[in-house]
Amino acid sequence: MFRRVGPTAGATGIGANMTAKPDASELSHREERFDTYRALAAPFETTFRDSRGGIELEYITGEQVITRLNDALGVGGWSFRVLEHGIHHEADEAWILAEISATIDGAIVVRQQFGSQKIKRSRSSNAPLDVGFDLKGATTDALKKCASLLGVGLYLSKKETPGESAEHDATAPTHAPDDHAEGEPIVCADCGEELSETRFKDGTRWSPARLAAYGRRKHGRPLCMAHYREANDAVRRGQSLEARAS
Ligand SMILES: [Zn+2]
Repeated sequence: MFRRVGPTAGATGIGANMTAKPDASELSHREERFDTYRALAAPFETTFRDSRGGIELEYITGEQVITRLNDALGVGGWSFRVLEHGIHHEADEAWILAEISATIDGAIVVRQQFGSQKIKRSRSSNAPLDVGFDLKGATTDALKKCASLLGVGLYLSKKETPGESAEHDATAPTHAPDDHAEGEPIVCADCGEELSETRFKDGTRWSPARLAAYGRRKHGRPLCMAHYREANDAVRRGQSLEARAS
């Protein structure tokens, strides 16, 4: 029943393959392009973790990103500039829109991204301590995001951020067996939305029940991740107000 493929057919295959092989310059150009991207996108030996506000994030520093760009593209092979910047008063954030340009294998690649940072305020007067520093932080944030569009540290954002977990998480189990009994869906006391499982960058998972438990313990009500974070921020702001008053 099986059709036997003889040695002749195999030999023809190899022969055809050899004639289709690209010439040396085309091949080296292709390899060069691959090498540049691989150099940009290579994992970092050291990463950092930040678990402020109960959200664990894995990140790299601005210095690591700059070093990577310099190594992979050459110091003269890329540039970065701020296109717009501002202070958003309601969010209490410095923000910037920035652009990275890189020469990759003879072509200029341009990408834009936003960056932001919370304004750091004096505990006694609540006045901004150093807006220049806040804008610099926002610029570093934007540089990292721009560089990630060229592959730098991109793998770190492969795992969902808390805000995105709901839409990407269709295949993951909705409930962790350890801390949730099947029953009514838990909804956020602030927005009425059903709580969804949250996956953090380090692979930790919070089931809806666990998120609800933290919400109840810290804020007296079950909250979705967005409102849980908001409530945490409000508590922190409240504490700094108390510190001001005393
Ligand atoms: Zn909510």
